[in-house]
Amino acid sequence: MPYKQLDQDSVIEYIKSVPEMKQVFSSFDNLNVSEIGDGNLNFVYNVTNNEKPKETVIVKQAVPFLRIVGESWPLPKERMNFEIMALQHAAKYCPALVPEIYHASHEMCLIIMQNLTDHKVIRGEIIQGKYFPRLAEDTSTYMAENLFHTTDWFLDHKTKKELVGKFINVDLCKITEDFVFTNPYEKSDTNSFNPELTQENIDFIQKDSELKLAVAEMKYKFMNNAEALLHGDLHIGSIMANEDETYVIDPEFAFFGPIGFDIGAFIGNLIMAYFSHEHRQKLLGNEPYQYRKWLLDTVEATWELFEQKFDKLWADHQEKENLPYWQYEGGKEAAAEQRKRFIRKIFSDTVGFAACKMMRRILGLAKVADIADIEDLKERARIERMTLKMGKQMVINRDSYSSIQELTALAKELS
Ligand code: ADP
Ligand code: MG
Ligand code: MG
Ligand code: MG
Repeated sequence: MPYKQLDQDSVIEYIKSVPEMKQVFSSFDNLNVSEIGDGNLNFVYNVTNNEKPKETVIVKQAVPFLRIVGESWPLPKERMNFEIMALQHAAKYCPALVPEIYHASHEMCLIIMQNLTDHKVIRGEIIQGKYFPRLAEDTSTYMAENLFHTTDWFLDHKTKKELVGKFINVDLCKITEDFVFTNPYEKSDTNSFNPELTQENIDFIQKDSELKLAVAEMKYKFMNNAEALLHGDLHIGSIMANEDETYVIDPEFAFFGPIGFDIGAFIGNLIMAYFSHEHRQKLLGNEPYQYRKWLLDTVEATWELFEQKFDKLWADHQEKENLPYWQYEGGKEAAAEQRKRFIRKIFSDTVGFAACKMMRRILGLAKVADIADIEDLKERARIERMTLKMGKQMVINRDSYSSIQELTALAKELS
């Protein structure tokens, strides 16, 4: 079927034409369709049988432009191919942590997937002060499984290079290159600021040479390190969860990049949530300590669990492969040292990328509601200055943190 942009009515026609949908819906007579997309890019339809609400799917379709801006900002609809391939890949290594795909069409640039009816996008829930006891455990598994299994430590030389080739995601990488690593750090029409931030606050980032050098290095690393298949947009708006389950959605930015970029995105978002809750918990009428402690505990646990799981997957693989390279007295210890050094590098990348993700949310185009929706603009600016200060120190000193606790200690010190 050639590409056609769907709307509420044609979604139903499309559903009827897909053989797999006969397994989901016992009848097509009473389908209810609502468009629920709240993201920046695509259209998302909830399709439910009115008579049997458990019969329900999500249809996500890419359109040939950027949704928040409109048709004046073209963006290839073929970006959906990356989302389809990335979801299929994740389904191989952590099927419980991604929505099940019922149907995917490269021509129509769409997927039909499991409707996560009992789960919510966690950004909004974290803003409300909700706890997710499994968040660190599940997110670290998602990252370790997907990332380790797409490195050259695991894949053979040919499979890896062919996969890298399939995931050349030119247009969505360009969005990240511009909006995460470039525009926020210079004068740009795409930037927008809280009016309560002063020019001095902005110059603190945009005119600091050490910071600019560091951000430029992170950008280059983003563009030139095809280490593993990244999610590419792993902020807390790409995770849906409840107390028992966690799902990672929306991997359309997937490409082969530096491992620390995904971990940094997630951790950077939790640090911003931590800063925002200095204010938000008071609004909710709570003493802020407990919830903020959970946020930083989650930062620490995510990194520590990721480190353990990635190391274990790799160690088990080394053992299984029985590599001649390490077959000598002392070889086992050297293999462990190799893993340790590599993970140490992932950690400094994680810190550096988290920093870029934080600063850009204050100075660039796309904000995080955690901070940007704070109505008291002076209070918001105070939290934004904290975020900028932390981001600056992190990116400049990214190689010198020796533990995740040093990073969370800095967050505590600054707020
Ligand atoms: P975009 O690429 O435009 O950001 P997302 O994949 O993030 O699109 O989806 C937008 C919104 O649609 C999500 O924030 C969530 O509310 C909803 N959504 C997406 N996928 C699902 C799903 N599988 N189940 C339930 N809701 C979903
Ligand atoms: Mg999204
Ligand atoms: Mg599943
Ligand atoms: Mg998206």
